[in-house]
Amino acid sequence: MNNTKSKELYKAGQKHLVGAVNSPVRAFNSVGGNPLFMGKAHRSKIYDVDGNEYIDLVLSYGPMIIGHGNDKVIEAVQKQVCTGFTFGASTENEIKLAEIVCNAFPGMDKVRFVNSGTEAILSAIRLARAYTGKNHIVKFAGCYHGHSDALLVAAGSGLATLSIPGSAGVPKEAVQNTLIAEYNNIDSVKKHIAECDDIAAVFIEPIAGNMGVVLPSDSFIKELRKITSAAGILLVVDEVMTGFRSKFGGAQELLGIEADITCLGKVVGGGFPVGAYGAREEIMQMVSPLGAMYQAGTLSGNPVAMAAGISTLEELKAQNPYDKFNAQAEIIEKALLAAATENGIELTVNRFGSMINPFFSAKKITNFTEAQECDTARFTKFFWGLIENGVYIPPSQFEAWFLCSVLSDEDMNKIINAINAAMKLAK
Ligand SMILES: *Cc1c(COP(=O)(O)O)cnc(C)c1O
Repeated sequence: MNNTKSKELYKAGQKHLVGAVNSPVRAFNSVGGNPLFMGKAHRSKIYDVDGNEYIDLVLSYGPMIIGHGNDKVIEAVQKQVCTGFTFGASTENEIKLAEIVCNAFPGMDKVRFVNSGTEAILSAIRLARAYTGKNHIVKFAGCYHGHSDALLVAAGSGLATLSIPGSAGVPKEAVQNTLIAEYNNIDSVKKHIAECDDIAAVFIEPIAGNMGVVLPSDSFIKELRKITSAAGILLVVDEVMTGFRSKFGGAQELLGIEADITCLGKVVGGGFPVGAYGAREEIMQMVSPLGAMYQAGTLSGNPVAMAAGISTLEELKAQNPYDKFNAQAEIIEKALLAAATENGIELTVNRFGSMINPFFSAKKITNFTEAQECDTARFTKFFWGLIENGVYIPPSQFEAWFLCSVLSDEDMNKIINAINAAMKLAK
């Protein structure tokens, strides 16, 4: 595989960019080797700057759910670009996207658009505190909720991969009101509730995707909803990754729970920077200009991003690819397990809808501690094997693979062949 140009750019990028990247996982630190610089993408494929073609199972870490370069999305974006980039005033498309989103999430009467998942979450922290008048928040080890101070502890993928216990520059005062619980362990939440009467909210990824894909047990997630309601604690469901991924709407509906506050990002912007937080009327009444909780944004509800979000969600709804996602993920799971068995490799696969994750471990993976026990050296060999064979997956054992709706049978065959070849190399 020729990667001359990626190597040149990686070297050149070091001069004025930090580590040649604008987000750490892109540096390939956990798998070593030269990170790929991408040149273009079309439908299910992505091409690096040296012209190598890959089936894209990263999809910009989720947003590109209908594949790259959908004609209708391009048309909507082009039209908006010609009409105006940003006005600093309200536009009709914000109302339209709000309607689509609120209709898709049963517990959401109103929504506020922001520019990233991180921003949605940090606004949700403020909102939960404003609404309850309480200060503490509970998060689960291994769940990632963006890079805001209060939630940057025990935060999964990027941090797990780099083995940073939190981050430098986060004062202990910023996390002293953050309590850590264990995913799938309801007693760890009950303990906090018993010991602290100042909890505003529990934050959770309904399907964890940032320690690798980890599913909540039915009893855990339902019990969590029950005990938070009973204690007057808000349940903030972080659907930045899961929103619109496994059904049109959120994972919470599939899991049989309803959030007090839902956070969105990724898919909702169709590849442009959009985040959102929403809740029922009485909670959203707290937000400025209706209420006393301040939150603002120069580019929030950006017209081009709204156009991309609306057209992506309309197309997604029309395509309704969710059964296809399940069927294709099942095929990939079977291929992974069969290839592992053939090569005497211990493997566990977790998946939910269009999110799937092979863990190089013999054990079931139900929480962050178990995820961390995986054989990451083997993952590294497997990762490079897939790259060599034309399949682009996230460069970390702890990131989900994503499927897009335009994966063809031919793409699927290529993925399966690549899995077989890469698993041999991982032996
Ligand atoms: C990606 C992600 C975020 C952060 O979103 P950004 O747009 O990267 O700030 C928050 N929560 C979850 C669950 C995510 O997957």
